[in-house]
Amino acid sequence: MEDCIFCKIIKGEIPSKKIYEDDNVYAFYDINPGAPVHFLVIPKEHIESVNSLNEDNAEIVSHIFKTINKLVSELGIDKNGYRIVNNTGKDGGQTVHHMHFHVLGGRSLAWPPG
Ligand code: AMP
Ligand code: ZN
Repeated sequence: MEDCIFCKIIKGEIPSKKIYEDDNVYAFYDINPGAPVHFLVIPKEHIESVNSLNEDNAEIVSHIFKTINKLVSELGIDKNGYRIVNNTGKDGGQTVHHMHFHVLGGRSLAWPPG
């Protein structure tokens, strides 16, 4: 997707603080952190949102969660805990239309969010 900022980050056209990448996913720190640790995990394939998941592409979600499992341990937030957030569409507050999972940790988080 030409105008997608996350596709540009994957291609290295926009800088990011990369944490991890493999053939299928890319993880990087959120530019506007909402917690001491706040990173995003995205598929390299441009999938607009959870609404766009189907039988052919949904396996990536398992891979994203396995990646989160690994990274929270490496970043040392697994034991105290963390929150995984996906925002979908207008009411969900999605601002970047390339599906992504936020991971927030490093402090106690209020619930429910606003
Ligand atoms: P959402 O509101 O769920 O669509 O989240 C989009 C997230 O992307 C926000 O938390 C932004 O701070 C983050 N973001 C936007 N541009 C960048 C960027 N260039 N590098 C890192 N994070 C970004
Ligand atoms: Zn994209």
